[in-house]
Amino acid sequence: MTEANIISRGEHGISREQIDDNALKVLYRLHNAGFQAYLVGGGVRDLLLGLEPKDFDIATDATPDEVRRLFRNCRLIGRRFRLAHVHFGREIIEVATFRGAHSSDKNGVLDDSGRILRDNVYGTLEEDVWRRDFKVNALYYNIADFSVIDYTGAMSDIDQRTIRMIGDAETRYREDPVRMLRAVRFAAKLDFKIHKDSEQPIYQLASILSEIPAARLFDEAIKLFHSGNAVKTFELLRHYGLYEVLFPQTEAAIREDPEYEVFLIKVLQNTDLRIMDAKPVNPAFVFAAMLWQPVLANTQRLLADTMPYNLALQKAIDRVLSPQLRITSMPKRLSMIMKDIWFLQERLKNHSGKRAASVFSHQRFRAAYDFLCLRSAAGENVEKDCQFWTQFQELGEKEQEKALRPKRRPQSRTKK
Ligand code: ATP
Ligand code: MG
Repeated sequence: MTEANIISRGEHGISREQIDDNALKVLYRLHNAGFQAYLVGGGVRDLLLGLEPKDFDIATDATPDEVRRLFRNCRLIGRRFRLAHVHFGREIIEVATFRGAHSSDKNGVLDDSGRILRDNVYGTLEEDVWRRDFKVNALYYNIADFSVIDYTGAMSDIDQRTIRMIGDAETRYREDPVRMLRAVRFAAKLDFKIHKDSEQPIYQLASILSEIPAARLFDEAIKLFHSGNAVKTFELLRHYGLYEVLFPQTEAAIREDPEYEVFLIKVLQNTDLRIMDAKPVNPAFVFAAMLWQPVLANTQRLLADTMPYNLALQKAIDRVLSPQLRITSMPKRLSMIMKDIWFLQERLKNHSGKRAASVFSHQRFRAAYDFLCLRSAAGENVEKDCQFWTQFQELGEKEQEKALRPKRRPQSRTKK
């Protein structure tokens, strides 16, 4: 048995004021009902680092049903992990019951490749610690006495700014390959180093990521690129060979044409800036960028076969999307936006007449325009179009109408 290091309330920097009110309510209600209740995971980690947590997760010895009985605004979700979601308006506080150990399991919880299939054996805090991924994610803030409980040496990893897997890294990556992406995401977000023992297996294991269901990989991809540290994340993913598993066509395109990487980095910088400014980001935009060069290359190939432009683009999109969606699926609503952005690129070359007017009134004009200007910034030959639409948007409504009027009179009205 491992001894826990208990850091008392005076010895760590977490105060209740930094904890979300709703999370506190849940913690107190569990505690007052006689259950153990802890803030865990990223919430504790981020507070210790002086960052604002993205969400507050709670761990307890109450079973999901017991949690549900305590909160009217509670729903149980998940098959593999049964979790309680306590709703406060739009905010959700996730409450997880301690999980028991599974590694020494004889009940077929792991499949032949070491993957976790089920993880629903309830346990104690002491057992729950070891199924968490990285040490820095395995700290528990105890609402009973405001201490932090550290079983794994997480505090020293936080001091040393290190991401280190709990247990044998290779085994734990095989159990759940998404942990490789999580290692990269946290390293980028926190500006931490991945410990040598935890990074080494990634180079060899990167390819097993392709076995993860496409819907989950899509969710993870969004987290990776919408963390506010997309550029760094992108570079780390490429470094570890993870990017080529997620976006094989993109990786191939970058290798063929290093200029394309310039564009992608511009897009990701732009995404990071938008997140810093609390502006909305649409996942379709980053995905549209990731697949742009492959789509373009396929379009050009088809155009060389004398196919009309729109048809060539549509076919190219099909060719590129179908293998990609098998890796990272995407809701239809998003792939539609992505297609709009791509189709509008050519149409933005119209600067007058009805065509230009219809581009401007298109629901995706703004996204397509931003995309165009990023292409321009990355050295593509579309500077004039970007300039035109930039100036156009600064005009008043009347002036805009005038600007779109066809520049030349029709030459002759005699022939139809
Ligand atoms: P953030 O919310 O900032 O993305 P987080 O560390 O809170 O980071 P979550 O995905 O919210 O991450 O998960 C909460 C906690 O659950 C983690 O800190 C970790 O302890 C545990 N956890 C989540 N995913 C896994 C996983 N795939 N394997 C093991 N433990 C995990
Ligand atoms: Mg979290």
